[in-house]
Amino acid sequence: MQSYASARAEFSGNAKVFLDANENPFESKYNRYPDPWHQELKEKLAAYKNIATEYIFLGNGSDEAIDLLIRAFCNPGLDKIVLCTPTYGMYKVTAALNDIEVQNIPLLENFQPDTESIQKIKDVSFKLLFLCSPNNPSGNCLSTESISKIIDSFPGIVVLDEAYIDFADQRSFINRLDKCQNLVVLQTLSKAWGMAGIRIGMAFANPQIIAVLNKIKAPYNISTPNMEAALNVLANTQPMKKQISEIVEQRNHLSAILLGFNEVERVYPSDANFLLVKFKDAKYVFQTLCERGIVLRDRSKQVNCEHCLRITIGTPKENEILVNTLSEFLK
Ligand SMILES: *Cc1c(COP(=O)(O)O)cnc(C)c1O
Repeated sequence: MQSYASARAEFSGNAKVFLDANENPFESKYNRYPDPWHQELKEKLAAYKNIATEYIFLGNGSDEAIDLLIRAFCNPGLDKIVLCTPTYGMYKVTAALNDIEVQNIPLLENFQPDTESIQKIKDVSFKLLFLCSPNNPSGNCLSTESISKIIDSFPGIVVLDEAYIDFADQRSFINRLDKCQNLVVLQTLSKAWGMAGIRIGMAFANPQIIAVLNKIKAPYNISTPNMEAALNVLANTQPMKKQISEIVEQRNHLSAILLGFNEVERVYPSDANFLLVKFKDAKYVFQTLCERGIVLRDRSKQVNCEHCLRITIGTPKENEILVNTLSEFLK
């Protein structure tokens, strides 16, 4: 296919008068269409991530990148993708929306990939395999060795979702893109960066894959105010870094306190900004907290997550309210 050539994308150089895009000519903050290639933001991100701009795709959240990857590389009704559950729900939803069959190869009981089974896949109709590290909802990083083995053996593209990587000690895979031609790494401004409201997600991959995503994206997929907000947060990353260390400290603190409750069976080790917690009676805890105005995420229906709730790390005050409320009704 040929992509839509937006007015602004067809022009490069210097001009004084723009009569090309049927915009309202009277100057205001937002009367012009945004840059379809978000060049300024990509350059700032490239410098921060130490990678060339040709390796970066920006989407309306990483959810847009997930959708575009599936639409670009999978033929509806013919191709298949591999998921390793329990994991982020959008992969499955987006596959269904695009009529793509899902083969599930669940994570092992320690929430690490079943590398042996994955390495047996030879069928080239498997176009994509999604891994999430640190994994949502289990919270752990997948082992670097397993991820590498899977990238080496999988016949299609491996999408490694690093939405929570900024909370982890483990290194990102984005500096391995030259060695791993079939790797796409997803990151987002929605979690550690504190910008879920502006919907900006990043895909990092070799320039051929990035070119495909750019070709099929909506022409103006990132709006001017959102771009400005992202540039603002990138201009000073100190507050974000401080928040990350506070969240990690709170995570470890909350984990220790939760283990003191008789009702808590297990707190899974987390490299992210949430804890997966196994209760004796998750439904009771979930509902009672709800009635008292505290909302957790019920993950008890996911594979290997029976009786588990996912708890996002809040501010110290919010975490204290959670603990105090739990103490009120749990012995
Ligand atoms: C929250 C989350 C995202 C974020 O998606 P955005 O569309 O960028 O907000 C992506 N992947 C995982 C695993 C997540 O948990």
